[in-house]
Amino acid sequence: MKIIIAGAGAMGSRFGLMLHQAKNDVILVDGWQEHIDNIKRDGLKANFNGEEVAENIAIYHQDEVSNVDFSADLVILFTKAMQLDGMLKSIKNMIGENTKVLCLLNGIGHEDVIKKYVPLSSILLGNTMWTAGLEGPGRAKLFGNGSIDLQNLGTDGKSAAEEIITVLNEAKLNAKYSDNILSSIYKKACVNGTMNGLCTILDSNMADFGETNVADNIVESIVSEFAAVAKRENATLNVDEVLAQIKTCYNRETIGLHHPSMYQDLMINNRLTEIDFINGAIVRKGKEYGISTPYCSFLTELVHAKEQILGAK
Ligand code: NAD
Repeated sequence: MKIIIAGAGAMGSRFGLMLHQAKNDVILVDGWQEHIDNIKRDGLKANFNGEEVAENIAIYHQDEVSNVDFSADLVILFTKAMQLDGMLKSIKNMIGENTKVLCLLNGIGHEDVIKKYVPLSSILLGNTMWTAGLEGPGRAKLFGNGSIDLQNLGTDGKSAAEEIITVLNEAKLNAKYSDNILSSIYKKACVNGTMNGLCTILDSNMADFGETNVADNIVESIVSEFAAVAKRENATLNVDEVLAQIKTCYNRETIGLHHPSMYQDLMINNRLTEIDFINGAIVRKGKEYGISTPYCSFLTELVHAKEQILGAK
C-alpha cells in the first residue's frame, strides 16, 4: 500500500518504520529540518525493542512536498494537534478521491479540521495505545506493545476500513474496528486531560500528585466536565471506570514515577502543548452546548500561562 506518514516525530517514526518493514511503499513528511536531514543521510534510526535499526525511508519537508508525485492510498496523521491544519494544507495535493486519511492524534475534535480537506467518507478516526519517544533528531526509541481502534466516519462503515486494518495488522500494529470510537477517544482524553495538565502545572510526577488530599476532588471535577460534553456528543463514558483508570497512574511500582508527555514537551523540551485540543476542546464544546467547564478552562489558561512564562515554541 502507498502510505504517507504526515508528521514523522516519535509516533510517525514508529508507524513509518513498522509499515516500511512490512514492505509497504512509505514516505514520511515532516517539518523539522534537522530531523529530516538526519533521516535522509543515515536512514530513520531507532532503538527498536533493544535492537539498533536504521530504516531507509524517503522523507520530505512539508514545504517541498507539493511537487512530489505520490498518490497515496492511505495518509496516517501524526503531527501534534496544533500542527495538523498546516500539515493537511501541505499534503492536500497528494490526497486523491480514493485516499483514506487515518487520524490517531490524542485529543478531541480533529475531524473538524480534517473535513476541511477531505470528505467525511475518507476519514478514519482512531485511538492508539502504542507509545514512542524521540532521543534526538532522526532517532526514535520504540519499546513495548500497543493496539489501534479505528472507525470509518463515512456511511459505508467497517467494509471501507477492512483493507487498512489488514495492512496495519500485517505490520503487527494490532488494529481492530470499533463501532464507537468517540467513547474510547473521550476515555483516553480524560486521562490526558487530568494527568498531563495537572502534573505539568504542579511540576509533579503522577504518584506525588495522586497522593495529595485534593487529587480526587480535582480529577473528579475535570472528568465530570468531560463526561457532560461527551454525553452531548453521544459518546458513552463510564465515569467510575475512567476514575479507576486514572488512579492506576498513581502506582509507584508501575508508571506513577513518570511525568506525562505534556510535562516532557513543556518542562523538558520547552515545546508548546496540546492543551487546546484536550481540556481546551472541552471548554469550546462546553460553550457550544451550554455546559459550564470551570476546571478545564482554568487548567487550559494555566498551561498557556506556563508556556508563555517559559517562552515555549
Ligand atoms: P512528536 O512531538 O514526537 O512529533 C510531532 C511533530 O513534532 C513531528 O513533526 C516532529 O518532527 C516534531 N518535533 C518533535 N520534536 C521536535 C523538536 N525538538 N523540534 C522541532 N520539531 C519537533 O509527537 P508524537 O509523540 O509523535 O505525537 C504525535 C501525536 O500522537 C500527538 O497527538 C500525541 O498526543 C499522540 N500520541 C503520542 C504518543 C506517544 O507515546 N508519543 C502515544 C499516543 C498518541
